[in-house]
Amino acid sequence: MREDNYTFQWSDLGDIELGRPELGNTTYVSIYRMLQFSVRSAIALEYGGKAAQKIFYNAGIMAGKEFCINNLDTSLDACQFFIHLADKLKEFNIGLLEVEKTDLGNLHFIVTVSEDLDCSGLPDSKETVCGFDEGFISGILREYMGIDFLVKEIDCWSNGNKLCRFEIKKK
Ligand SMILES: [Zn+2]
Repeated sequence: MREDNYTFQWSDLGDIELGRPELGNTTYVSIYRMLQFSVRSAIALEYGGKAAQKIFYNAGIMAGKEFCINNLDTSLDACQFFIHLADKLKEFNIGLLEVEKTDLGNLHFIVTVSEDLDCSGLPDSKETVCGFDEGFISGILREYMGIDFLVKEIDCWSNGNKLCRFEIKKK
């Protein structure tokens, strides 16, 4: 990582085709979760659970911004953009996004993600755990609309639901 600038950029991910000619661009979901959950655990043990949540949300914002810049067409209108976003999230095997509510006037949206990469199949812990996804959605929409959104996960596999549901409001 560049010592002068710790802000995540898509180019930090490198040339995967060049680097992994035999193993390629995929891995197991368990291995992705192993990294995410062990990093969250290490942060929480050092700084507490609240700090870990905040750090994951902020990481999601950076990731969402770079994901948007490098993978999404921001020239589309809002309706088309959400369809396009759903296509991309499916293409990358992140999850299956559906828009439940669109109120463009009040900048209020509700979306669901089923088969979510971060939480689908987790044990029921009575808590939502997709803080990274909250930030990720916020970062994408900030890049697309130039507006700061507060994204809150209201349903999650790990609080007993079979999908994640996110409420998106203007900050
Ligand atoms: Zn979730």
